[in-house]
Amino acid sequence: MSRLITVSNRVGVPTAGATRAGGLESALREALEAGGGIWFGWSGEVTPERSESPIMLKKGKVTFATVNLNPTDYQEYYLGYANRTLWPLLHSHLGLVEFHRSQLRGYIAVNEYLAKMLAPLIEPDDLIWVHDYHLIPLADELRKLGITNRIGFFLHTPLPPTDILVALPHHELIMRAFCAYDLIGLQTENGVRAFLDYIAREANGRLEFDGSLSAYGRLTRVIAFPIGIDTQGFVDMATRAMRTAETRKLRNSLDSRRLIVGVDRLDYSKGVRNRFEAIDELLSEWPEEAGHFTYLQISPPSRSDVESYQALRREVEGVLGHVNGKYSDVDWAPIRFVVRPVSRTALAGIFRSSRVGLVTPLRDGMNLVAKEYVASQDPEDPGVLVLSRFAGAAAELKTAVLVNPLDPSEIGAAIHQALKMGLNERRERWGLMMEVLRGNTIDDWSANFLKALKATRPLD
Ligand code: ADP
Repeated sequence: MSRLITVSNRVGVPTAGATRAGGLESALREALEAGGGIWFGWSGEVTPERSESPIMLKKGKVTFATVNLNPTDYQEYYLGYANRTLWPLLHSHLGLVEFHRSQLRGYIAVNEYLAKMLAPLIEPDDLIWVHDYHLIPLADELRKLGITNRIGFFLHTPLPPTDILVALPHHELIMRAFCAYDLIGLQTENGVRAFLDYIAREANGRLEFDGSLSAYGRLTRVIAFPIGIDTQGFVDMATRAMRTAETRKLRNSLDSRRLIVGVDRLDYSKGVRNRFEAIDELLSEWPEEAGHFTYLQISPPSRSDVESYQALRREVEGVLGHVNGKYSDVDWAPIRFVVRPVSRTALAGIFRSSRVGLVTPLRDGMNLVAKEYVASQDPEDPGVLVLSRFAGAAAELKTAVLVNPLDPSEIGAAIHQALKMGLNERRERWGLMMEVLRGNTIDDWSANFLKALKATRPLD
């Protein structure tokens, strides 16, 4: 049986006292434990010099191998090209894309360095599975070092259409790097179509009869594998959470008002500003709703070293102050905004206590919160998911109330519809979404990807 090597920008090294691992982390760890393997990547540490060799930590059948990056790497690779160039581009926010050649060079250089650190750990039969936009050039760099193993890649973000991809200076360099993988996994069929379209129009490549793709003198496969969650784990966690003091404290504070909830990292792709504006629209269109709901938005800050994220926080807080100022009374404010970290169990309890889950990203690869929200519901009295049609999850969760996240009045009307929705309709919509979540869990996702990777031709 071949070993598995997973590679991601950050490695889920188990540490004493750490909170319960997230779904992806546990799924990858489980896949690694099945046949033994290595999880390789950046330690998250920035030190004056890069590591000369990986720091190895063995836990059972899994070895965690991490390396430190230097301050220039952190600036150019992580904050720069990955988060100022690729992230906004992949989410179709062209106005936020910054481009500096030095950062592109830094991005490639870190991938080259990571390949050099990883190569000596690779054995001939190992399967290698690389994750996300930080590491697109990794396979190409490994190939340059003579690694011929099967290497797969999964992109957790969306892949935008060709017309947006070509806005990236030197886009062919990135797209060529993709083709060094034997298998490219994307979240949706839309992403696959975008990839094929780019290859046909820009790379003069073609789709072969057996479904493989030939471009840049290489052969690869592009398949949609929508990521799932630990569905049963969330059902259990949400049920347990209802008995915790934290959930009780929240429920008591609601004073029998219906709860609307949103949970997202503070990121411009999540559309939080539009959601606050939607509350304004809701209350101006249906003033009788004032005092009858509480909207809790939980948004832990992220990437606060990037200026556009600092600007976003100021902007969101401005709109929040405006809406709360306009509608609050002495005993009620429409929006509660929480930036403190909240445990996953507490989140599940909050989801289950709510009537409406608001998940309205402007663009999202999948959006796991949407799936976690559905799995957390009480089957007897489920809440309603209001979901952006531009989240990958919308391709699967078709019985959510789907909205255009750019239109606050459409979101406001959807919230109103959700608040008014009768029990039968709520149950019916929820039941259909739950079937989807049970049919495609995070374990199915990793098993399907690895099966497809094994089925690609071994290189000679
Ligand atoms: P993204 O990967 O862009 O942040 P997703 O919705 O796909 O968006 O994934 C976010 C993950 O982080 C989910 O699993 C969610 O439960 C978790 N999460 C988000 N906010 C919090 C929070 N405040 N505390 C703990 N976990 C959170």
